[in-house]
Parts: sequence; C-alpha cells; structure tokens
Amino acid sequence: MAQLICHDCQRTYAPSSLAWHCECGGLLDLADLSATFPWQKVKARATTLWRYLEALPFEQGETAWQSITMGEGYTPLVATQQYPQRVQFKVDYMMPTLSFKDRGAAVLIAHAAELGVQHIVADSSGNAGTAIAAYAARAGIHSDIYVPQTTSSKKIKQIMLHGATVHAIEGTREDTAAAAIAAVEQQGLFYASHVYNPFFFQGTKTYVFELWEQNEDRLPDVLVLPVGNGTLVLGAYYGCLDLLHAGLIDHLPHFLAVQAENCAPLALAFEQGQPTAMPVTNRGTLAEGIAIAAPARGQQILAAIRATDGAIITVSETEIEHAQITLAAQGLFVEPTSAAPYAGFLAAINAHQIETGLFAPAIEELPRSVLHDVLQGTVVIALCGAGLKAA
Ligand SMILES: [Zn+2]
Repeated sequence: MAQLICHDCQRTYAPSSLAWHCECGGLLDLADLSATFPWQKVKARATTLWRYLEALPFEQGETAWQSITMGEGYTPLVATQQYPQRVQFKVDYMMPTLSFKDRGAAVLIAHAAELGVQHIVADSSGNAGTAIAAYAARAGIHSDIYVPQTTSSKKIKQIMLHGATVHAIEGTREDTAAAAIAAVEQQGLFYASHVYNPFFFQGTKTYVFELWEQNEDRLPDVLVLPVGNGTLVLGAYYGCLDLLHAGLIDHLPHFLAVQAENCAPLALAFEQGQPTAMPVTNRGTLAEGIAIAAPARGQQILAAIRATDGAIITVSETEIEHAQITLAAQGLFVEPTSAAPYAGFLAAINAHQIETGLFAPAIEELPRSVLHDVLQGTVVIALCGAGLKAA
C-alpha cells in the first residue's frame, strides 16, 4: 500500500494523512506504489487517464473518481508541419478546464474526496487553481484559491465561476503561496497543492502512459516540457520510472525542459551543476505559468532531468512570442507559457542551423546526445494551456 514519505528524513505517514509536509519541514513523496498495466483491461476502458487505474494510488473500492471525472486525458498527438514524421505536439490543453493541470487535479481531488475532505486551499499562477476549483466543485468540496493579483483576469473569472473563493494576492508568486499556507495552518484545512501534494504528480504521470500507447508502445527519444514548479517534469519522470519498472521501456527519454529567460532558477542551477536551485528575482515574463522564482521541488526536478541525460534551456520573451505565433499559424492556439517548450525546440534547431555562436549560451551548453536526438530523433513537444486563457 502506498505511503507518504519525507524526502529529507524518510519518516513515513499513512496516505490518509492530511499533512502537507513532514514534521521536520521536508517535502512529502509517495512511496511503495506498485504501478501495473493490465493491458487487456486498460485497452477495454474509455480513453481517459483513468484507464491506467492500476498505476494510480487508489485502493480497490475507492471509486470517488467515477463521479468527478470529466473524461480528462488521452489528449491527441498532432504532427508538426515542419517535421511531420518525427516531431509531434501532445495537445494537452484539450482538457475540461483547458490545461494539462486537470490530470493532477482530478487525481488529487479524487484522493481528497476519498478522505472525506470538505474544504481545501490551493495556490496557483492560474491554471492549477482553475483545475482544482473545477474538480472540487464536482466533488462538492469548497475551495479557497489563492492567485497572484497579476494572474490573467480570464483565469480568475474561470476559478470564480467554479464556485471557489478567490484570493488575489499582491506581490510575488511566493507571496501567494505564503498566504495560502497561512490559511491552511490557521484553519487546519487540506492543502490541495500541486507542488507539495504528491498525489498531484500521480495524475500528471499519465501523460507518458498515453504517449507510450499512442507512440506504438514506446516513448519518443526526447520530451520537450515546460518547467516552473515541475508539475509535468516530475510527473512525466515518475511515469517513465513506472514504465521502466514494468519493463515497458528499457531506457528513459531525454527531458529537454524549458524556462523563460527572465525567471530561470532551474536553468541556472543546471548550467552551474548545482544540486538545487537558488531563488532568483522574477524579471517579468509572458510565461506566467512557469515564472517560479523559488521552486520548492527544485532539487528533485534537477535530479530527474539529469537522470534522463536531459537539459534545461531558456527562451527569451521574443522567442516565446514568436513560438506562439508560429503555433497559431499551424492551427494551435496556446497561451504564452505553453509556447515556451516549442520556442525551446526551435532555439535548439536554430542553434544548430546558424552555427555562428550568436545563440544563447544555454543552447550552446546543450549536451550533444540531446541535440542529436532533437535534430534526428523522435520528439514530442508539450502544449499545456489553451490560448484563450491569456488572450
Ligand atoms: Zn522529515
């Protein structure tokens, strides 16, 4: 049976615990999950992320998910027009609340519902808050959602319409998290955090299960992913490990993670070979969803990307805007945050093509093995949030 375990001191907690961190202050992870893939059953089920039920942290008889699911998951793979044979987009914004966060929210709220939780708190730059609010509404759970005051007004409206109480917090994204945590502590509420609660990552890991199935029972050579708090990077990594342990893959794909140049603590730590990311000052970016100046799981994110023999690169505001327009010209309208991975892919391609040394240093540092696979291998680029969210 799965249990919560402290990343720092290895103390364990029952999965039914409402604790959001260890008594020592450490982050909680989930351990002793035994993900299995009974394909005959899986293939017979609907094409939602719940088809991988035996790989998710629920016991037999825990069926709360059945009344809250909105068919999330199994998003399409769409070929790029540039390299249709080998480079594809996973259109993960085709979700009930228009972002990939529905993966984590559906699983986390199903878990909260199993525990009988009636009131939750979450903080978010927007999309996770929206997803949590929507699934909480379906589960009949009241939600208090904390967002930075600068969050796109459309996201705030979306959260409010789901019936959540919205708290728009002045200051940085970290100030928003602090306000949410204060409410959790003072009122003894359940912290439905997509950063601290490891159940969220159990939802986002289904991203790679789908890829494996959609890609003829194998994973592509490179996964291009956005990275801020690591919701998708860590989920994808745990998913890859599940596939590896189940003998369904024999090596991990390279993770090419992309940050906005103006807020890139992970790229900096990666470049400097540091085990953890030091906080930076957010200089302002269109990519609000990955503008995380002090990622709580920075150490785990860096370790995961290194374990894939991957890399973290940065893209400029101009590159993000260009990528958003280039995607729209191919029929795919994403919000600026979600254009960042494609911008990173284009930067890697261009860096190779130009060969003048004019490209960003981070690209120059791109390991040869990753660059080789970006240029010649199979690549899947994540498109995580719909364009209308921030239009
Ligand atoms: Zn601990």
